[in-house]
Formats: sequence, C-alpha cells, structure tokens
Amino acid sequence: MQSFGYAAQSKTSSLAPWSFDRREPNPDDVVVSIDYCGICHSDIHQVRGEWGADIFPMVPGHEIVGKVKAVGSEVTRFKVGDSAAVGVIVESCLRCDNCNAGLEVYCSDGGARDTYNAILRSGEKTYGGYSDTIVTPEHFVHTLSSKLDPAGAAPLLCAGITTYSPLKHWGIGPGKKVGVVGLGGLGHLALKFAHSFGAEVVQFTTSESKVEDAKKLGADDVIISKDAEAMKKQAGSFDFILDCVSASHDMDAYLSMLKLNGTLCLVGIPDGVSVKPFSIIANRRSLAGSAIGGMKETQEMLDYCAEKGITADVELTDYDKLNEAYERVLKGDVKYRFVLDNKTLRNS
Ligand SMILES: [Zn+2]
Ligand SMILES: [Zn+2]
Repeated sequence: MQSFGYAAQSKTSSLAPWSFDRREPNPDDVVVSIDYCGICHSDIHQVRGEWGADIFPMVPGHEIVGKVKAVGSEVTRFKVGDSAAVGVIVESCLRCDNCNAGLEVYCSDGGARDTYNAILRSGEKTYGGYSDTIVTPEHFVHTLSSKLDPAGAAPLLCAGITTYSPLKHWGIGPGKKVGVVGLGGLGHLALKFAHSFGAEVVQFTTSESKVEDAKKLGADDVIISKDAEAMKKQAGSFDFILDCVSASHDMDAYLSMLKLNGTLCLVGIPDGVSVKPFSIIANRRSLAGSAIGGMKETQEMLDYCAEKGITADVELTDYDKLNEAYERVLKGDVKYRFVLDNKTLRNS
C-alpha cells in the first residue's frame, strides 16, 4: 500500500518527505494509522550511519501510537478504531526458547527484526514510524488504554520498556536503593518507574539545572556527578544502578557505589566500556546490559502505566522541524522526549 513519511536518503542527508510502498496486510497483520511517534536517540545514530549496517532510504521511528485502520482475517485482539502501539521490533522466529519465554528481542533463531532499518525473513525492508501508517503482525502490536495521553505514551514503546524491563528483572522494589545515571529520555522514565516501584531512588546528573526536575520526577536524592566528594559518600551503598548515558563516562566510579552483589546495568550505549577488574571483583559486583522487554512485558508495562498514570514528559514537534529537533536532542535540549505530531505530516 502507498505510504508517506520522512526519510533520510543517505547517512549524510537530512530527513525529508518521501513516498514509499508498504506490504498489503497479511491475515495476521494490523494496519495502524499513526498519530504520534517519539524521537529516540537511536534514530539519530542510525540515520547518520553511526552503527553501521544501515539501509537507505531510512524512515526511522519506533515509538509509535495510533489507531487501527484495518485488520487481517486472523487478527483477534484488535478491531478498526482501537488505539494501538508498535515498538522497537516487528518480527522474531516465535519458536525458539527465548521467543517461547516471551523474550522475542533475544530471539536465538535469526534474531528479532527492527521496526526500521532492518530486513524481514521475507526479504522485505522495514520502515518506521515517521510516517502515516505501519503494517505489523498482531503479535508485535500492543493495546493502549484510553487513560493514557497518546503523545506521552509514545516514548514508553522504547524508552519506557528499556528502563522498565531491567528494573523488573533485577527485582527493584521497596527496600532497594537504586541509582539512575543521566536524566534524559531514558533516565526520566527510569526515575518514574523506580520511584513508583517503591525503591529509594538517587538520580545522578552532570547538570545543576536538572536537580529540581529530578526531585519532582520522584528522586529521593540528586547527586551532581562532577562532585567527587558527593560521589565518594555513596560508596558501597546501592543495590542497583541503571546507566542511561550514551556518552563515554567513568564506569568505575559507579561500580564502586554498588554494595555486595550489586549490579550496574547499561541501557545507554556509549562508544566503549572500560572497567578496572577490581571494580567488579570487590563486592562480587556485576556489570550487565539490557535491551527492550518482550511483547508480553511491554503490554504489562503499558497497562501498569495506565493504572499509575505514568507517561513520558514530551515536547510535541512538527515534521518540518524534525531536523532541528535532532540537533536539540544531541544538545540535550529537550524535556525529555520529542514526539512527532502526525497532524503536521503532509503528503506534499
Ligand atoms: Zn529507541
Ligand atoms: Zn526466536
């Protein structure tokens, strides 16, 4: 079917209007008419070819919410007009042990395929949510409660589940002391989740100007990471630290803050990671990483957010300001996620 969106034609070109074809829906497909799509930092990395394996033209976007426009004959959970959401992946084998455990993103038989900048098992290229519609198998489409503001819900599909999943996996709740490193798109949702799970939450930030915001978002304490004295005082006191920073930074400083058996989990993606062996040998610490959650957990997170009234703090942006929004994301000049408003997407 004819589709329209914003694409980068090469890794050096900016995003511009582009018409393209999507497949006609298969029996198990849901066609979603997109209302909002979040701008994720990884969109910028990929359109600029910074992760390699880039496929152009590229239509980014994997924080997608909208309304069901059509359904295939085998679809059971959706009907036309329902709210629906699509996140980071749109295909996995659905047969391997990891898929059977509801962890499709860790599919061990050919891997999960991304919502954009990927090639499906059929050979079809994927195009993301900076567009008018998306065609996705029902298994990879989520229901969205009408209690949630749809624009604020969009970033839950990547930033939300990327922070919710590790906090759940490491059993964060009352009695646990949790650190969140970086207060951006990922960090502000990590903070909201950790606080709502009942943990004691300490926000780390490089920026004095974010202290008040962090407290409003649920931080029990805020530490300026450049303050060496304040950092030292936290030694050996955390059960878990979620590191949401994509710029290179000193991991040893954060590892030293973990108590016995504590874990530092990366969800940001710095260029490289280097740690001193004794930073993890001491206190039997773990350095870990985590991706998005599975489809079942993503739905659980969306339902939890609807129940608790959790959404991202967003700034709506028009498509004609998309390239400007990218520059502002790179400067950290957004509180805390840009969301594209599809009312401004015009087929011209
Ligand atoms: Zn993302
Ligand atoms: Zn699989």
